[in-house]
Amino acid sequence: MENRNSHNKRINRVSFFEKFLQIIFPQKCAFCGEILFAGKVEIEFCDSCLSKIEFFEKDFVDAQEIDSPFFDGVISVCHYRGLIVEVIHRFKFNAKPVHYRPLAKLMHLKLEGICKVAETDFVMSVPMYSSKQKKRGYNQAGLIAKGFSSCSGLPDYSRFLIRTRQTKKQSTLSKTERAENVKNSFAVWPPHFDFVGKTIILIDDIFTTGSTLNECARVLKEAGAKLVFCAVVATGVN
Ligand SMILES: [Zn+2]
Repeated sequence: MENRNSHNKRINRVSFFEKFLQIIFPQKCAFCGEILFAGKVEIEFCDSCLSKIEFFEKDFVDAQEIDSPFFDGVISVCHYRGLIVEVIHRFKFNAKPVHYRPLAKLMHLKLEGICKVAETDFVMSVPMYSSKQKKRGYNQAGLIAKGFSSCSGLPDYSRFLIRTRQTKKQSTLSKTERAENVKNSFAVWPPHFDFVGKTIILIDDIFTTGSTLNECARVLKEAGAKLVFCAVVATGVN
């Protein structure tokens, strides 16, 4: 708790410094480029862009809409509709990794009030296969986890979950094929890292069928994790 408090104090100091910088170098909306004014700087999106994001009202995505037994809940910032589709697409494929920061901030704002995740031990992200990550230059889920870790003070242990083989692109497959495609494609490493009894927030950018997150959660539960909550920027589940 002491570490979390000191981390928050550090964030406050940075915020003050950021306010000072904003006068000299005005910060712009991460999406449309409009200059931001006090109060909006922290979120990094302007009012107009924020109003076009369809935020998820409930804390958790309804359980009956999810058929994935290994995780204990899905928390989504917004629906995968409207502006966020373009935001994610642009950030994912236009080689602008720094733009994952506002998505991590929105995720933090969503999660900090949810008591079920208050006792979380650490965060992790869905790993990308090494050759694919090398080609893109970054793993978008990993960057969101890094940003979320920075906002929340929770350790980011993404490096302890690895992708063991290349898989086909999930978006071209049916739900059954997706589950089969990612089966046995993740592992905890090193195997002796202590997951026993831990509560983990597992981060990805988009939730569709949940096959990938479910397979990651299966591996983490097998390693001894007590609870695995998935946190995503957007979900296609209505
Ligand atoms: Zn904007």
